[in-house]
Amino acid sequence: MGGAKSDCFSSFVFFCAIMQVLLFSVRGSNSSITRIPFDLYHTSVSLLEEVEAMVNRHPDKLTMEVLRASNGGYGAEVLVVTYNRLKRQNNNSSKFRILLSFGQHARELITTEVALHLLSILGEERRIVGIDPTCLENVEIKVVPMENVKGRKLVEAGDLCERRNGRGVDLNRNWSVDWGKKEKDYDPYEENPGTGPFSEPEAQIMRMISKSFGPHIWVNVHSGMEALFMPYDHKNTTPNGFTSMLMKSLLENLNHHHFQGRCLVGSGGGSVGYLAHGTTTDYMHDIVKVPMSFTFEIYGDLTASSNDCFKMFNPVDSDSFQRVLNEWCGAFLNFFKEGPELLKRQNVTLDRWISMDSAKFLLGHKLENGKRIDGLDFGMSEMRTYFRLFMVSSALLMFMFCSRISKSKCRQVYQCSL
Ligand SMILES: [Zn+2]
Repeated sequence: MGGAKSDCFSSFVFFCAIMQVLLFSVRGSNSSITRIPFDLYHTSVSLLEEVEAMVNRHPDKLTMEVLRASNGGYGAEVLVVTYNRLKRQNNNSSKFRILLSFGQHARELITTEVALHLLSILGEERRIVGIDPTCLENVEIKVVPMENVKGRKLVEAGDLCERRNGRGVDLNRNWSVDWGKKEKDYDPYEENPGTGPFSEPEAQIMRMISKSFGPHIWVNVHSGMEALFMPYDHKNTTPNGFTSMLMKSLLENLNHHHFQGRCLVGSGGGSVGYLAHGTTTDYMHDIVKVPMSFTFEIYGDLTASSNDCFKMFNPVDSDSFQRVLNEWCGAFLNFFKEGPELLKRQNVTLDRWISMDSAKFLLGHKLENGKRIDGLDFGMSEMRTYFRLFMVSSALLMFMFCSRISKSKCRQVYQCSL
């Protein structure tokens, strides 16, 4: 009996080892890998320089600041651009506030190009036919054009499948709502959530911006498919309540008017084919209480081979590249107009305002020496994630090695977009 068990176990281990070798050989193959076409795409350095130059050319509309944080010897810088037209004449607290982040996942370069294009439209260096910039006098927009700069540098150095930050943590799994839960097919190469909620400086900075700015609308911009997602990512449902209906109707209008209905619309968890735990958009909805919290997926090539990451997540020819920029910037401009109008019609109040100066004070004092801002603003949901992690992580650890060979819909295309 003992011998039979031992043989069975040895065979199982051998099988797992063979599958691992096959998995790595597929990943390591570079027979049909598309390199970054730098005639279309900026490097991270040149893109951020262009953003800075644009802000300097339009001080009446655009301002910027660089926020820094560090934890455990790893530091990050995040550039934030604020669009505020006629800011001297208007009272900021009466404006609708919109927060957008691009480039949270390193390999999704097209999102950062859309950010740059969008800023050139907000700076009025480019025009979108049919859109009058004066319609944006009542909104204040904060744009993070490249959230994950250190991960992006790894991609530019040749690791084209990297989506995580500069030390291997997925910034869209590092937030505290349902943090750390791992599905059967969990792959740390894709979804490593970090050592705890907000372990990563990039996530700390984004949380600080969200809490100080108090946006009415949040959009996390990704690529890998074409989709307009609303909460939740960690479960297969949308939130209850009236604002959930407003979110759905806004997304369906966008899909109809700008994308000929081809985007997936619905909850991330219910539509993308896998559940995602610890995401930014779920936190924005549940904890920051942003009335409209979204994740947009702006491009995907599902015909690309599983190891051809650049092609899977980014357009590679000039026509597709320009189409994505124009189509999504047009959609964003209408969205900036229609989103606030919809909220206003439903009497969603504009109550909270804390200046970014106050926010920098908080950041400087609370993130110094790598301390996190966790303590006082822990809600019950955050406590539950810790407890759940404690209960399940030890059991799941035993199965991590072989779980990489199990397949789900997400893994059939090898990478996740959300
Ligand atoms: Zn992504």
